[in-house]
Amino acid sequence: MFENLSDKLDRAFKVLKGQGSITEINVAETMKEIRKALLDADVNYKTAKTFTDDVRTKAMGENVLTSISPGQLLTKLMNDELTELMGGTTAELDLKASPTIILIAGLNGAGKTTFTGKLANYLKTQKGKKPLLVADDIYRPAAIDQLEVLGQQIGVPVYANRESKDPVAIALEGIAQAKRDGNNVVIIDTAGRLAIDEAMMQEIERVKAATKPQEILFVVDSMTGQDAVNTAKVFNDRLDFTGVVLTKLDGDTRGGAALSIKSVVNKPIKFIGTGEKMEALDVFHPDRMASRILG
Ligand code: GDP
Repeated sequence: MFENLSDKLDRAFKVLKGQGSITEINVAETMKEIRKALLDADVNYKTAKTFTDDVRTKAMGENVLTSISPGQLLTKLMNDELTELMGGTTAELDLKASPTIILIAGLNGAGKTTFTGKLANYLKTQKGKKPLLVADDIYRPAAIDQLEVLGQQIGVPVYANRESKDPVAIALEGIAQAKRDGNNVVIIDTAGRLAIDEAMMQEIERVKAATKPQEILFVVDSMTGQDAVNTAKVFNDRLDFTGVVLTKLDGDTRGGAALSIKSVVNKPIKFIGTGEKMEALDVFHPDRMASRILG
């Protein structure tokens, strides 16, 4: 995960750490290298610029030049700023309502159905919840099969209605069943859609209006870098989602989406997907991710 970015940041710091004495000039040089590393990682341009300007200003304010270990001080500063950039603290799910309704949105292939299974498994095994899954993709029967297989695998019920062509009705039927059966979380896996597909966007808006979810999680493939950020913007304008799920981080060597999404969309990353298995899900901790990036 993020190997390329970590390597490049490491190289940027080496120059500074190798210096006997530190000058304002080589702090500036280091910041230039860091900005380059961030842009190479496909971090949003404005985010990278603001970030390095902030670190530089703070470094000067904290007297990096006169400190005994300027390299260390700068690494600490970078660590703090990266943590802030990714949201500061861990954003928890709001699970107070019973049942809690969680709507899953995103493009085709982003990893929605896989995440729906992973989230149910997490809530069941780590949070002691009794989830029910709703297969709300009326366009791809294979998606319903996929969710049913996952449900069986993790021992969580799945509501599906293959006869219906009305996603709003299916979602409401699923919630009604959850209430009858005492399931305290309902996770609705919606059809994948292209952001530009107006009819599909209106459909998920209708599902949102009818089900009044406490959480709307936007699932996105982290390997798509800036595209992930742009898609997030479009979905957020329409759905005002409550959190981001970054999938396929196990294959992402660059990290651009993880670093930019919070500052561009102003919504927290809540989970990260790190593999295809049901257990390959982590709650997102900005501080741990920052340490990991800095190595
Ligand atoms: P959907 O169309 O958004 O529902 O996407 P799927 O859940 O069907 O996932 C698409 C593909 O991505 C599948 O082959 C999944 O196994 C894979 N996938 C999903 N999440 C992850 C992840 O975190 N890591 C990896 N390596 N693969 C993932």
